[in-house]
Amino acid sequence: MDDALFFDRHHLEVREMVRDFARTEIAPVAREYDATAEFPWPTVKKMADLGLLGVPWPHELGGSGMDYLSYIITVHELAKVDASHSITVSAHTTLGTSPIVDFGTDEQKRRFVPLLASGRVLGGFGLTEPGAGSDAGGTATTALDRGDHYVLNGSKIFITHAGVGEIFVCTARTEPGKTNRGITAFIVTKETTDKAAALEHGIGHEPSLPYTRGVRAGKKEDKMGWRASDTRELYFEDAVVPKENVLGPVGEGFVQFLRTLDSGRIGLAALSLGIAEGAYEEALRYTSARKQFGRPVAAFQGVHFALADMATEIEAGWHLVYHSAWLKQHDKPHKKEAAMAKLFCSELAMRATIKAVQLHGGYGYTTEYPVERMMRDAKVCEIGEGTSEIQRLVIARQILGDLLDD
Ligand SMILES: Cc1cc2nc3c(=O)[nH]c(=O)nc-3n(C[C@H](O)[C@H](O)[C@H](O)COP(=O)(O)OP(=O)(O)OC[C@H]3O[C@@H](n4cnc5c(N)ncnc54)[C@H](O)[C@@H]3O)c2cc1C
Repeated sequence: MDDALFFDRHHLEVREMVRDFARTEIAPVAREYDATAEFPWPTVKKMADLGLLGVPWPHELGGSGMDYLSYIITVHELAKVDASHSITVSAHTTLGTSPIVDFGTDEQKRRFVPLLASGRVLGGFGLTEPGAGSDAGGTATTALDRGDHYVLNGSKIFITHAGVGEIFVCTARTEPGKTNRGITAFIVTKETTDKAAALEHGIGHEPSLPYTRGVRAGKKEDKMGWRASDTRELYFEDAVVPKENVLGPVGEGFVQFLRTLDSGRIGLAALSLGIAEGAYEEALRYTSARKQFGRPVAAFQGVHFALADMATEIEAGWHLVYHSAWLKQHDKPHKKEAAMAKLFCSELAMRATIKAVQLHGGYGYTTEYPVERMMRDAKVCEIGEGTSEIQRLVIARQILGDLLDD
């Protein structure tokens, strides 16, 4: 990989800083948080202190004033060590904060972004519903216009940070029927479900935030992977949302969310690449040390093939991730490239982690080594922010374009 293709000196410094932080602060606790499925407030607080919860946002909005590539480097490096910490940064930044930065009024940015960018409060994004996943246009949550406010009813499922978070961007139907133009985005707020921990660690709760009446989180999902990431249903029960919290023009919510997902997919691609690389590094280390038949197992040709395939695919994934991130950073079209990076890297994460477990033999099947956690963490990368099947549809639509419109 030629770093000079996409990175300048500053990017390399960010990479070194995040890499060092992940190895010294996250690696020692990742296994325990995976086992208990607790939200890792102490390390999230350290990430906030380092500015990792607001990497690409300007200083005047409370961010770290860095660029999009620095943000993707951050997600990538964290995932090499622990995907749960990485998705916390990624879901908070791209899904929870970027819609407000991209589509919010000056007043909305002033009110919400500094709280999010500093990590004072965690954010999330509510698109998926129990009956509307891949077909997000099937949104059934309703928003009724009541003069100076809307009343929302319905629910969003599998929402990252629905429990621990306090600020959310969500979609609801402002026009009956199934048209995508009848969907509008709203900013809603609620109190964290983890107030005691938030107060103890000095992060995750802002008492002065006016909370939206009628918004609450459901029970925490018990997941295969990303176990230290908080995933829950978010309910709207006659939720009263003031009109000043409508995000962007009425009826444009679906289009805004598709744009948010285009760049969200680059983040998930970087996260997937990080998992694959973390597993590869573990496999390289283990097979070099482990001896069978009097030799390190890495000396056997069958093992060379597995390591060579992993290294080759990681290099290909690296180019897809950083090329799509570069396109986004330079305001160039990136829908197809982001979907390709997400598709390739999420499937690579699965292949690489399965190989890494195999190369560890029986030890790889135990929690003594991180590769089994990495294998469990990889699976959801093929599902979240659009499944692999949906990525293929997005790519095909970009390739075939007019032919499909006819
Ligand atoms: C841990 C986790 C965190 C998440 N975080 C969030 C979040 O923060 N915010 C949010 O809004 N959502 C979130 N999601 C939801 C996620 O984006 C959805 O699960 C995903 O988009 C798939 O939707 P679904 O689960 O309803 O599956 P379905 O859409 O029901 O799909 C079921 C299967 O059918 C396939 N399928 C569906 N349609 C087609 C088609 N047209 N062609 C071919 N195959 C098809 C799918 O690929 C899949 O294999 C999260 C999910 C998980 C598991």
